[in-house]
This record gives sequence, C-alpha cells and structure tokens, in this order.
Amino acid sequence: MPPRQPYLTKSRFLAGQQCALRLWSQVNDPLPHEESEEGSVQALGIAIGQEAHRLFPGGVLVDHPPYAHEPAVRRTRELMADRRVPAIFEAAFEAAGVRVRVDILERGTRGRWRLTEVKSSGSVKDVHLDDLAVQGLVVEEAGVRLESAGILHVNKAYVRGKGAVDWKRFFTRADLTADFRSRIEDLPGAIAAMARIARLRQAPAIDPGRHCDSPYECEFQIRCHKGLPKDWIGHLYRINDCKFEALKAAGIAAIRDIPEDFDLNHQQQIIRQVLKNRTEHVSPDLTKLLAKFGPPAAYLDFESMAPIVPLYPKTRPFESLPFQWSLHVWDGKKKPTHDAFLADGMTDPRRAFIESLLAAVKRLDLPILVFSSFEMTTLKQMAALFPDLAKPIERLMARLCDLLPVVQGGIYHADFQNSFSIKTVAPALAPHLTYDDLETVADGLAAAQAFESLAAGRVQDKADIANLRQALLDYCQRDTLALVEVHKALLARAPKQRGRGR
Ligand code: SF4
Repeated sequence: MPPRQPYLTKSRFLAGQQCALRLWSQVNDPLPHEESEEGSVQALGIAIGQEAHRLFPGGVLVDHPPYAHEPAVRRTRELMADRRVPAIFEAAFEAAGVRVRVDILERGTRGRWRLTEVKSSGSVKDVHLDDLAVQGLVVEEAGVRLESAGILHVNKAYVRGKGAVDWKRFFTRADLTADFRSRIEDLPGAIAAMARIARLRQAPAIDPGRHCDSPYECEFQIRCHKGLPKDWIGHLYRINDCKFEALKAAGIAAIRDIPEDFDLNHQQQIIRQVLKNRTEHVSPDLTKLLAKFGPPAAYLDFESMAPIVPLYPKTRPFESLPFQWSLHVWDGKKKPTHDAFLADGMTDPRRAFIESLLAAVKRLDLPILVFSSFEMTTLKQMAALFPDLAKPIERLMARLCDLLPVVQGGIYHADFQNSFSIKTVAPALAPHLTYDDLETVADGLAAAQAFESLAAGRVQDKADIANLRQALLDYCQRDTLALVEVHKALLARAPKQRGRGR
C-alpha cells in the first residue's frame, strides 16, 4: 500500500495562509505537543466552547481525540443518522484531503444542517471567516447539505444578573452564510496549493518577516529566528511593513547597519545610533522632561483582569476590573516606603480597590508617577462608576505623571531591546533591579490569569491560594519599585541640568 499522503486540517490551512514554512513544519517537523495551561487563553477558549454546548440541549459530543479521526468520522455518521440527536459537538469530517472537527452541527430543516463555530472573542474577525469557509467546504464535500453557517461569539453587551450566567444571552450567533458562500469559491485551489507544500520533501525557503507575528504569533520563531542578529530590523520599534521590506530587499538585517540616509522617524534614528555606537542616548531635554516628577514622589501601579465570563453581577464580558494596586513613596533620600492592596476576589473588587487607594493617597501631596496611560484610564472608569467618589478620584488624576513618555523621549539604552516596557527599561537602567526571581507571576497577563483563577474558585488548596496571593503582591510591588529605580536612574543621568529646569 502506498504511504498515506499528509493530510491538512483547518489549523494547518490557517497556518499555511500565514506562512508556507509554518504549514510544512506543522506537518513534517512539529513541536512536541503541550497541554494548555490552566487559566491560559487557549484553556479559556476551550472552556467557552464547552459552555456553548448548553445552548443545544440533547446534543451529543464526539469525544474521540484528534488522532482517532477515522473512528470520529464514523461516529459522526451514526449520530447524523439518528434523528433523535438534534446537534453534534465536534463532528468529524474528511474530504478533499482535509480533516475538520466542527464545533456544533445542528439538525436543520429538510435534511439540511446548521454549522456553527464557537469563538471566545467579542466579535467576528476576518480570520474567523476563513476558518468557517474551510469547515463548510469540507462538510459539503463530504455530502452534507448546509442550511446555514455562522459564528457563535461572546455578546459584549451582556450584563450578568444576580444569579448564574444566562448562557443564551452571553452568546450571540452571527449568520455568515453569504460570506461563507463567497469565500469557498477560491478554496479548492488554495487547498491544493497547501497540500503540495505539505508534501514537499524539503522545508520551503521562507525568510522570517513581519508575518511571523501576524495574524498569529508563530510557534516556530525560536527555531526560525535563531540565526538573526540580536538587533534584527523586524524588531525595530514601530517599523512598518513597507520600510521592513525595503531594508530586507537591500540586504540589511541588523538595525545598526541601516544607512544614515534611510528614512526613519526620530525615535528609530536614536535606536540605530545607540546600537551602532554602543552608547546610551540621553536627550538634552531630559531635565526639562523630569521637571514636575519630584522627588519627593509616589509611584503607582494597577493590575486588572478582564474575564470573558463575567464573575460578578452587573459586570460585562471583557470588562476591565482592577483588583490590585501598589504604591511606593520616595523622599529622594531615604529608602522608599511601600503600601499595597489586593482584593479578595469574592465580590466585585472595584469599590474596595478605589476606596483603599483614595485612603492611601489622601494625605500625599506629591506627584504620583505611573508608567502607562492605563492608570489614568482606570481612574476615569472608577469616577464614572462611583459618582460619589468622583471628586477625590479627579484630584488623584490631576496628580498623575506618566514617566513612560519621558523615557521614550529622553533616553535610549541598547538593553531596552526595542521595547519601552518597564520590565526591560528598569533592568537596563538599574541592573540591580530584576524580575528574574519572580516565577509564578512575572507579567501583567500572568497577574490577571492568577487573580481570575482565584476569583473563579479554580484554586482551592489553602497553601496554593496563599502562595498565589503572595506572588501577586510581590509582582506588583516589584513594578512600582522598578519605577522608583527608573526615576533615580533618569535623575542620575541628567545631573548637571538639574536645578536649571526647575
Ligand atoms: S517563524 Fe516566521 S518564517 Fe518561521 S515558520 Fe513561523 S511564520 Fe514562517
């Protein structure tokens, strides 16, 4: 028997649309399989898909794993033939060399079926239409007549009531039958082209580029980007596709090699000079930029979560819910003092968050330094949500000073690595400050996931809860300490100008 040709799947098809090498690698040289981590975006997406099943009572799940595709196809056929089954979850089909699992296949009228894909996003995205088209094409090629095709996604306008989540209102279905029909025309040609790529004996020669991050972050980046210079042009701060392609066409891979006469914006020119000369850039305006920032000063950072499924009454899907703040105060001489708040998560954390913060800053008549516009945005939301606290919140807002634009306009260090995140800026300017020892929670996304896991009751063990809460406190405290250190480092770099600018 001749060896079986490699098959395509919907995921492989979408990978192939992004990059031929990504498709080939998924088929011929895949990475080891990794289970989705608890609380991760993937795990939440799977959980949302399972919740959607509630909308189709009597539906039956084809629970065969992906590698058991042929038995899954047989089981799907059995269920389709059983008129008592109103809907099939994870229905399996194979046609035209493509294997698919359909999230929900619902029995329609006159022997036809309604195909539905479930997405955990708040709207239909263009890439969902390609996804739907592939599913629908394979299902129809397999002999199933479709009545409609659509996407079931999260209804952002849903507001949770006092009781359990109302799943019927939480989800909304967009009927995309017309879009699906218009997209499937070109698909057979695209599928044939991808099948040819999948069968290649050698990996196709594709250079890394802007497509490595769009529309998905490719999982093969460590492998593909290994030979690239550390200061690869693809990482240049806010470089656009046009300039990237022009540099690539000119054979330039490293930012330090970009010619002087190449059109870069002011920030990009500074980055190029720093990488070329291995010197730090300090703007002559740094003192002026720092004029209103103290010390003495306070340093503030918030953490928030945006659960897809609302955890509390009167909250919506994806609504930003601040749950934690950290505040350092530095007089310019002594060791900074520290204060913090971390909600318990049992109830909506917002009122306790803002009341505790207002109490902490009540007697502080100081500039309050932050490192993003997020704190200002959050305070505006709190003022709108709690009109009785609007006045003190507005007074607090008037004292916020964002250090991020000062860093962006006033300094560049080679170790920023084209990023102005506090996590790269602080260790570059103050090497004794590091995030390396933070394991459980080391960035904002991990903080949001950790708190959501606690608030949703997914962590039950008392010791685990205590450890996770301590990790959250340590992380947020590190962020405001980093802010103190960045401020100190900036002041130290503009010593002669100090006093003139004040
Ligand atoms: S890292 Fe880039 S070039 Fe490599 S497979 Fe992924 S998308 Fe293609």
